[in-house]
Amino acid sequence: MRFLTVKNFDKDKSTKFMDSKNNLIVDVNGLVKRFPIGFSGFFTALKGIDLTVSEGEFMGLVGPSGSGKTTFLNIIGTLDKPSEGRVNVLDKNAGNLTPRQAAQLRKEEMGFIFQSFNLLPVYTVFENVEFPLLLLNLSYGERKKRVMETLEWLGLTSKINSRPPQLSGGECQRVAIARAMVKRPKLVLADEPTANLDADNSHRILKTMVKLNEELKTCFIFATHDEKVISYLKRIVHLEDGRIVKDISRQKSELQ
Ligand code: ADP
Ligand code: MG
Repeated sequence: MRFLTVKNFDKDKSTKFMDSKNNLIVDVNGLVKRFPIGFSGFFTALKGIDLTVSEGEFMGLVGPSGSGKTTFLNIIGTLDKPSEGRVNVLDKNAGNLTPRQAAQLRKEEMGFIFQSFNLLPVYTVFENVEFPLLLLNLSYGERKKRVMETLEWLGLTSKINSRPPQLSGGECQRVAIARAMVKRPKLVLADEPTANLDADNSHRILKTMVKLNEELKTCFIFATHDEKVISYLKRIVHLEDGRIVKDISRQKSELQ
C-alpha cells in the first residue's frame, strides 16, 4: 500500500466544515424508527436515540445483528426517514428533506461504502470512481485530476483500466473507497465494509481509511460488528435492541 500523500489536495475545501455550533456533522435527538409489518402492526427498530458526531470523527455503531445499526446509518445517510425525533445531518433537518433535496445532500456531501462494494461491473476502475463526479457538473479535466489523485491515494493507479470482475475483493473495496472519497465529502458512511474481505485486506483498507480521516479530516461513521474494524475506531457507540447502551471514546494508544 502506498503511503498516502495529499499534497495537491484542496485542503481549504475539505477542512472548511460546518459553520454551526460545535461543528456537528450529525445531531440526533429522540430518534425513533418504526417499520410497518403486516396490516396494522409496527416493529420498532430504534427506540429513542440521542447522539452527536463532530467533524473529523472516526466512529462506529457497534452491536449484534439486528440491533439497529443499518437502520440508524440509513437515516443518517438520508436513505430513510425517522418516525419520530429530530435528525440533523450536515446542517440539514433530514426528516424534512424532500427526496430531491436528500439526493442533492448525498451527492454533494456524503460518501457511501457498502459490504458488497456495489461497483458497476462493466465500467473500468476509472469510470467507477468518476461516476459521482458526473453528477456534479465538473469539467472532464477536473474530473480526471480528482480521479487520478484519489486512485493514487489508494494505490490503484495501475488498475485504472481494469474492470471489477478482474480485481480481488480487497481491490474492489479500495475502488469503492476511492468512489466514496473522490468528491471529498465531509461524511463517509460505511456499512460492514470488511464483511467480504479477508483479514489482511481488512487491515489494509482500515489503515487507508484512518489515514484519510487524519489527513483530510473526513468524518467516518461505520456500522459494524467486526472486531478488526472495532480495533481502529476512535469512538464506539454500542447499540442493543435499538438503544445506545454505551458510548466510549478511546486514546490513540488503545488503537490498532
Ligand atoms: P443491524 O444492521 O444492526 O443488523 P438492522 O438495522 O438491519 O440491524 O435491523 C434492526 C431491526 O429492524 C431488525 O430486527 C430488522 O429485522 C428490522 N428491520 C430492518 N429493516 C426493516 C424493514 N424494512 N421492515 C421491517 N423490519 C425491519
Ligand atoms: Mg446491518
